[in-house]
Amino acid sequence: MKIIRHIKELNDSLYDFRRQGASIGLVPTMGFLHEGHMSLVNKSVADNDVTVVSIFVNPIQFGPNEDLEKYPRDIERDESLLVKAGADYVFYPDVKEMYPEGFSTKITVSGVSCGLCGGSRPGHFDGVATVVTKLFNIVRPNNAYFGMKDYQQLAVIKRFVKDLNMDSFINIIGMPIVRERDGLALSSRNVYLSEDDRKSAVSMHKSFGIIDELIRQGVRDKHEIINAVKAFIESYPGVKIDYAEIREPVTLEEKTFIDGDFMLMLAIFVGSTRLIDNRLFSL
Ligand code: AMP
Repeated sequence: MKIIRHIKELNDSLYDFRRQGASIGLVPTMGFLHEGHMSLVNKSVADNDVTVVSIFVNPIQFGPNEDLEKYPRDIERDESLLVKAGADYVFYPDVKEMYPEGFSTKITVSGVSCGLCGGSRPGHFDGVATVVTKLFNIVRPNNAYFGMKDYQQLAVIKRFVKDLNMDSFINIIGMPIVRERDGLALSSRNVYLSEDDRKSAVSMHKSFGIIDELIRQGVRDKHEIINAVKAFIESYPGVKIDYAEIREPVTLEEKTFIDGDFMLMLAIFVGSTRLIDNRLFSL
């Protein structure tokens, strides 16, 4: 496995593979890898001839008061996990390599970017869509892997890939959420949690059971369901709800009636740590 810091070197390395028609898989990450990330890497290694994992803490997707500076990093540990998993290249650029002086372009996706994390983190999805577009152009993968933990991000990426006609050469593959034994979704940000925070954080996953139960009882009123979820989560110490919403699974539009498939979309603060989770429900 090779760590590559420059775009030109990555292009040169992938040139022969491309010419030979080898399939290339890309797994974009911000590093500090865990089993959630590794499920994407394992899938890419299984599906493709060559796997490129990018590690880049993308400054333009962080707001001014967010955790860009303290975002956890451990490139050595990441490297050893990726070697074990059989990744071929790690693309590990610095900020100047990705955003050289004069960089002025932004990809904005409307609709699916609105509300939820897009509402709480203004500009976040512009930053995500811009960096992912750059990574797609740099790596030119056949397949790109994203986790459903960041469900709105996946919807945004699927949207611009379709809108910009990139779907004729890139498949976007969404992978299930990997969780701890108690249900907490794995996240690089879980390292910020104290033992008590950790107990409160699992309230998101536990709240899914409340919906299952309400649905079983025949409840179809969206507000009743959301209020029950909010009250349950807020009963845990140190938790503040950022949003708890029910949305249509593909467009992420608000749903008036609970019918067919719907997503529960959650974001909470536990202390100062912001965590997200979601689940698809089907009636
Ligand atoms: P990040 O490093 O947080 O930007 O995440 C990189 C990729 O890993 C994204 O596509 C995430 O959705 C995905 N990911 C993060 N956590 C998980 C998880 N617990 N299960 C599945 N995928 C995940």
